Amino acid sequence: MSKKVPLFIDGEFIQSTTDQWIDVTNPATQEVIAQAPVATLDEMQRAVASAKKAFLTWKEVPVSERARVMMRYQALLKEHHDEIATILASETGKTFDDAKGDVWRGIEVVEHAANIPSLLMGETVENVARGIDSYSYTQPLGVCAGITPFNFPAMIPLWMFPLAIACGNTFILKPSEQDPLTPTKLVELFEQAGAPKGVLQVIHGGKEQVDFLLDEPAIKAISFVGSVPVGQYIYRRGTENMKRVQAFAGAKNHCVIMPDANKSQVISNLVGASVGAAGQRCMAISVALFVGSAREWIPEVAAELAKVKPGAWNDTNAAYGPLISPQAKQRVENFISQGVTEGAELLVDGRNCEVEGYPNGNWVGPTMFSGVTTDMEIYKNEIFGPVLCAMEVDSLDHALAVVNANPYGNGTSIFTASGAAARKYQHEVEVGQVGINIPIPVPLPFFSFTGWKGSFFGDLHAYGKQAVRFYSETKTITARWYESDIADVSGPNMTIHLK
Ligand code: NAD
Repeated sequence: MSKKVPLFIDGEFIQSTTDQWIDVTNPATQEVIAQAPVATLDEMQRAVASAKKAFLTWKEVPVSERARVMMRYQALLKEHHDEIATILASETGKTFDDAKGDVWRGIEVVEHAANIPSLLMGETVENVARGIDSYSYTQPLGVCAGITPFNFPAMIPLWMFPLAIACGNTFILKPSEQDPLTPTKLVELFEQAGAPKGVLQVIHGGKEQVDFLLDEPAIKAISFVGSVPVGQYIYRRGTENMKRVQAFAGAKNHCVIMPDANKSQVISNLVGASVGAAGQRCMAISVALFVGSAREWIPEVAAELAKVKPGAWNDTNAAYGPLISPQAKQRVENFISQGVTEGAELLVDGRNCEVEGYPNGNWVGPTMFSGVTTDMEIYKNEIFGPVLCAMEVDSLDHALAVVNANPYGNGTSIFTASGAAARKYQHEVEVGQVGINIPIPVPLPFFSFTGWKGSFFGDLHAYGKQAVRFYSETKTITARWYESDIADVSGPNMTIHLK
């Protein structure tokens, strides 16, 4: 019998009373390794009640103590890094190294959350009028909630609950139903770090559970990461219900390759950024724009890509793992077939990929098209698989026009030896995260994750100072104290008092 994933409500791991369970599979074998519950209404209401109650005491806990919980949590995550990565690899199919990277990028956010006292500092101005001072405080919102995708089951929950809780909020997490074991381990360690009962709750399920969070009046802010249609839906419904919402969505990330770039750097970076993690990264490079004579490198990129071998989570030579599900594999293979029909040239074909010893894995081999045009479905859609689309353009201006016309704006890169070309690109490109000779420019947690356009719905982004603002309210105080009210310290009463 496979393991039943618990809910975490009111400080306890409990088994759901639901009669609906979702299979969690190992994507390399299809073995059912666990079952995630579809939380009942009663369970979700208990989670909200507990989070509301815990907020009343947690917001009064001194900020330095809240920071210390994050310090202990960071140490525990590091101590259990390999164990979390093993769980993560078994349910996502990621290679062990990639799984460790997923956990590590989350640990870095917890480190940032441990700096919460200075992040919460407000502003002060003395004498805004004669004898009047103004100052501001940053106060928590209340109960916040997070809905996370399958592709980073450690990093993305850790983008959310540590900072929200460090700010003094309580938090309800609804992880992806496809890989709930990693978040369960993260929560177990959070409890061990000394987080008081009720500050974090975990419910499992899908749309019905998300709708509950979107409609529950006690929840003040919703963080979401996932696909575009779901992100748009969550943003609309959440804001209609007068909640604060940040929704991070899909992407189509372009890499611009100038002819003066370092060719070997371009090839190795492009290969890793396009098919690494089976292309299941919102910051994967899925379109390479070869400018001018750089187009001559396309066959060499294809030759290097063709050498890349996927493999199982426990194969140390594997470059990447399987796709998350048979449906995801089918979807990617359909796109590859569609690209051929649309007239793109298939230089490397990842369909019908086999990995020895794992006949049932959701394998798709590295895939590359050339001659892709912007009207093709393989260009217009986020394929979310190990597929690179190569396009040829005449100039940097032409490349900029293509990238800026694309509805997404998560990440982009330019490879060049020219500072002037890089400067022009970073300045004019309408994308929120830009790499210069760096293929996947994910900002570290003291910055924020700043996707633009169709890749993000909301105002304030994940982690960094922006997340602190997202998870808090600013209270501005204007104060006057009348000097005439100061007690007469020389009077007889005061003298007695001072004795
Ligand atoms: P998804 O949208 O299918 O699911 C994300 C979450 O939403 C899950 O918890 C799921 O249970 C819930 N959900 C699914 N359908 C729903 C519905 N109809 N109503 C309400 N909730 C629903 O996304 P996924 O497949 O898990 O993740 C991959 C997507 O996430 C890709 O598009 C990827 O680009 C995107 N992503 C974006 C970022 C970013 O920072 N921009 C980061 C990681 C992943």
